[in-house]
Amino acid sequence: MAEFTMELNDDQKEVRDWLHGFAAEVIRPAAAEWDEREETPWPVIQEAAKVGIYSLDFYAQQYFDPTGLGIPMAMEELFWGDAGIALSIVGTGLAAVGVLANGTEEQIGTWIPQMYGDAGDVKVAAFCSSEPDAGSDVASMRTRAVYDEAKDEWVLNGTKTWATNGGIANVHVVVAVVDPELGSKGHASFIVPPNTPGLSQGQKFKKHGIRASHTAEVVLENVRVPGSCLLGGKEKLDQRLARARERAKAGGERVKNAAMATFEASRPAVGAMAVGTARAAYEEALEYAKTREQFGRPIIDNQGVAFQLADMRTSIDAARLLVWRASWMAVNGKPFTAAEGSMSKLFASETAKKVTAQAIQILGGNGYTREYPVERMHRDAAIYTIFEGTSEIQRLVIARTLAGMPIR
Ligand SMILES: Cc1cc2nc3c(=O)[nH]c(=O)nc-3n(C[C@H](O)[C@H](O)[C@H](O)COP(=O)(O)OP(=O)(O)OC[C@H]3O[C@@H](n4cnc5c(N)ncnc54)[C@H](O)[C@@H]3O)c2cc1C
Repeated sequence: MAEFTMELNDDQKEVRDWLHGFAAEVIRPAAAEWDEREETPWPVIQEAAKVGIYSLDFYAQQYFDPTGLGIPMAMEELFWGDAGIALSIVGTGLAAVGVLANGTEEQIGTWIPQMYGDAGDVKVAAFCSSEPDAGSDVASMRTRAVYDEAKDEWVLNGTKTWATNGGIANVHVVVAVVDPELGSKGHASFIVPPNTPGLSQGQKFKKHGIRASHTAEVVLENVRVPGSCLLGGKEKLDQRLARARERAKAGGERVKNAAMATFEASRPAVGAMAVGTARAAYEEALEYAKTREQFGRPIIDNQGVAFQLADMRTSIDAARLLVWRASWMAVNGKPFTAAEGSMSKLFASETAKKVTAQAIQILGGNGYTREYPVERMHRDAAIYTIFEGTSEIQRLVIARTLAGMPIR
């Protein structure tokens, strides 16, 4: 087990500086354009692929860093550049992690390379769980997967929503109900290979922020996938369902929404994204406050402005520490006895919303325009308290964990 450390080692610093260079030189200058266009920034993803940032190898290296700091450090730097473009670069990772977590060696080897493509022909992937009537309440999911034994195929029907890269992805990972009696324990994940008939993009959403990231509905109409596309395989699924049925019988009630508790280990990564956006807005505000003069002196000479900056920086550093602690715990197999993963995501995302609003205030009228990036950063920051579990759900998970109550 790696000791918890608050200092990056030399290798990590080198990677951080490299990522920061990419964020400053490639991502940030493109941010306003892709925000206005509200389109996937393919040229930037291609650039990231060329230098090795858009690749499974890169994420695997960061993911398996025993200090746990590889992923949060990478997320913070990329999202410092721009949240919408960074999500377009790391969004595929959400689907890849779904396969890494549940897939067999063969599935990992077959599908993950197809999710990323290569530098000459980049692809993206989508992870489709949310539905119109199943957001926070994952157990209400309706998309069904039915096994056709004669053909060894699964047949998927339903509508997914809010899918990052939904419909434009080469590979979709779809979560579906295989046993409705078991609530979220009756779900399984499936690969939908490229160009599978029956999968189509529904509405593409016009969003408040992270507008360079594509978000859309995914419609599944009699989508047939081979049995080999069930992540983990049929035998493992049958065993898992049998255990869940036994437990449900013993408990005497339907197993409810345990999925709420399962994202604990991935939430710090979202917290790190929020830290990146918050830090970017804070830096803009600090620089502006030092140079903007009113009443014959820089506005930072006013305690009212300086104290805001002090609070902004303090919250950002506190958020990063919570994120790093939770990431270290996740990588080193420490149990989240106080829902520390949710804590980090809750605090960091609320910090990003608050700090970006303060940054607008410090920039005054300029902060309210698209001539300065803090307006975009504030719109972008609003996503962090919503996706991967809303702030209310984080509080619910933390409170129930502290109370020793089941998460449902
Ligand atoms: C830009 C974007 C990208 C996304 N990307 C993906 C993706 O790639 N894949 C995917 O599967 N999903 C994705 N999502 C979906 C996201 O995870 C959901 O939006 C989120 O889980 C909330 O669900 P909901 O929108 O249905 O809100 P609801 O669950 O309807 O919640 C509405 C409000 O009610 C509150 N609320 C709900 N239940 C409770 C409760 N028990 N106690 C207190 N308050 C409660 C919520 O906190 C929220 O404030 C994305 C969403 C967005 C906006």
